[in-house]
Amino acid sequence: MPETPDLRQRYADALSRSLTSPQRGMADHLDAVMAVRDDELARLRREVAYVAETGERWRQLWERVDQERSDAVVRAEQDTAANARVRAKHVPFQRGDDAFCDECSVSHESGVRRYVLVPFPCDTIAALDQPAAVSEEQAGGGNG
Ligand SMILES: [Zn+2]
Repeated sequence: MPETPDLRQRYADALSRSLTSPQRGMADHLDAVMAVRDDELARLRREVAYVAETGERWRQLWERVDQERSDAVVRAEQDTAANARVRAKHVPFQRGDDAFCDECSVSHESGVRRYVLVPFPCDTIAALDQPAAVSEEQAGGGNG
């Protein structure tokens, strides 16, 4: 990597200051230039540490997002399966021209005598068919 003009200028300034001081030898001049180099190395080490730390934080954040996505997929699959199980129970049967819910209409064990006839779709199926309600948290509410 080529030296930046800024660093080259800093070397030149340090050398210039050292050369204009009386009673200084070559070792003193080298020390003046190397002090600039040491400052630059320290700055670069801090930068590398910062980049590594930031990368690690991003990696951890990505890992968490990926886990939450996986959890959401599992929950969605469970919800779909539960929905299917409920729908399998709440099926319509015909009585004349009308349809009634087999699960909600209380029946004798024979399935022939029914004490209550609940029209189909029943409240359970109607609730499943409702569009998902947006919660206050998702809607950014909380004004209350
Ligand atoms: Zn039902």
